[in-house]
Amino acid sequence: MEKNIQINLESISKNAKEIFHRLRWKGHIYCPQCGSIRIATDKQSHRCKDCDFRFSDTSNTVFHSTKLPLSKWLYAIYLFCTQSRGISSYNLSRLISVSQPTAWRMLHLIRTSIVHDLKLDGTVILDEVYLGADWGKKPSYQKFKKAKEFGFDIPPKPQDHLTNIKYRKDIKSMMMKSASYDKTQVLGISSYNNRSLILVPLNNHTPSSAIITQLNHQLRGHLPSIFQQYLPNAQHIVTDEAPIYKFFDGRHSVNNHGKSEYKSEDGFTTNRIEGVFSHLKRMIRGVYQHFSKSYITQYLNEFAWRWTHFDDKLENKIESLFGFLV
Ligand SMILES: [Zn+2]
Repeated sequence: MEKNIQINLESISKNAKEIFHRLRWKGHIYCPQCGSIRIATDKQSHRCKDCDFRFSDTSNTVFHSTKLPLSKWLYAIYLFCTQSRGISSYNLSRLISVSQPTAWRMLHLIRTSIVHDLKLDGTVILDEVYLGADWGKKPSYQKFKKAKEFGFDIPPKPQDHLTNIKYRKDIKSMMMKSASYDKTQVLGISSYNNRSLILVPLNNHTPSSAIITQLNHQLRGHLPSIFQQYLPNAQHIVTDEAPIYKFFDGRHSVNNHGKSEYKSEDGFTTNRIEGVFSHLKRMIRGVYQHFSKSYITQYLNEFAWRWTHFDDKLENKIESLFGFLV
């Protein structure tokens, strides 16, 4: 009776219920209340023969109380998996004809449900990246306010033309500086030989006058617990010349980027993690444009999941993403 329907845009609109049924039960219907597998099924619903609980395919899932049709949810999941750098809420809202806030909530639900708890061992590459606050070059009132927030003294606006030029220059450099303060430091941990990736956001609430050396000082404090959590059995790390990794007592290959060395003495590079960061920045800039700092964990989680499962079959990606939601 189980039909093996391929999941694509056409089949989702025609057979949403069948696809949902297959993804939810994977061939084994069980009672959500008592776990029994003695189930009687009629056209509309299922009934547990042990506890007499009546349920449908959507019972006890987030899809049960939703007013949106299942096909729209399946579309959203499908698009989330097929777009290699994600899909923005505006784009999704146009594609499946829902409002942008609805599309955002759908994507957010999918994003937050992803469970990505890897532990890496063997050879791993570590590097830091600074995300957020790419404010562009034009001065604006928002940036002006932000600069004030970061404690810059903003001089009063001069009246004559010549000093006005200098004034504008000063203000601009102040804004650029405060933009660099308003970033979140993220630690990237990648396996050397495959796509397994962990992204750990640090200093989520950057203190107003934090500068990179201070951030690094804090990171040094966090690193041992990060190692314990994500790299309990790491034996070999590859990093750049940053001194914060010196506490590690296993094998350590260093790429001295300051001296333009892009290969360590024993032949290891950090290229893989640089590639990750370049993709990550393009995802943020190109697809999402902007996201609130308070959601950075979820976005990084999404990206790490995407990157780790990049080569998986589409069907498997959809199944595992669906598994997080039900
Ligand atoms: Zn039951």
